[in-house]
Amino acid sequence: MSNNLLGKQKKIALIAHDHRKKDMIEWALKNKELLSGHFLCGTGTTASLIAEETGLPVKPYKSGPLGGDQQIGAMISEGKVDFMVFFWDPLTSQPHDPDVKALLRIAVLYDIPAAMNRSTADYLLTSPLMNSEHERHIITYQNSVKVK
Ligand code: PGA
Repeated sequence: MSNNLLGKQKKIALIAHDHRKKDMIEWALKNKELLSGHFLCGTGTTASLIAEETGLPVKPYKSGPLGGDQQIGAMISEGKVDFMVFFWDPLTSQPHDPDVKALLRIAVLYDIPAAMNRSTADYLLTSPLMNSEHERHIITYQNSVKVK
């Protein structure tokens, strides 16, 4: 499989800031059936809460403020995460704001589907593309780094 192809089974990262965790859990419970067909992972606390509430396997990485966002970003760059639901808090600044910004940048760069609120997450999860392969268009800067 080409690195630019999203498979039928998505590798979904789930992340929610503290004030958005309730929303994330409600959304995950509502969409448990659909989510069960994919591989799930997430930042530490979000992953544990979703696993506990839904019974779905969710691989936990470090908590966001402790480097979890960076781990997820690294996995996107390696093709190990190809879909993200990230409910970030629009009303509270975070100690790890630079990591949050970096993660959002990487998600755009690698052209992965990324939802940041419930409506978008609902639209994405019910898209026919969820059950098919999909080719990403990763931005390449090769041409802009010409030496000669
Ligand atoms: P958490 O991290 O799931 O460990 O709370 C989320 C975040 O703050 O990015």
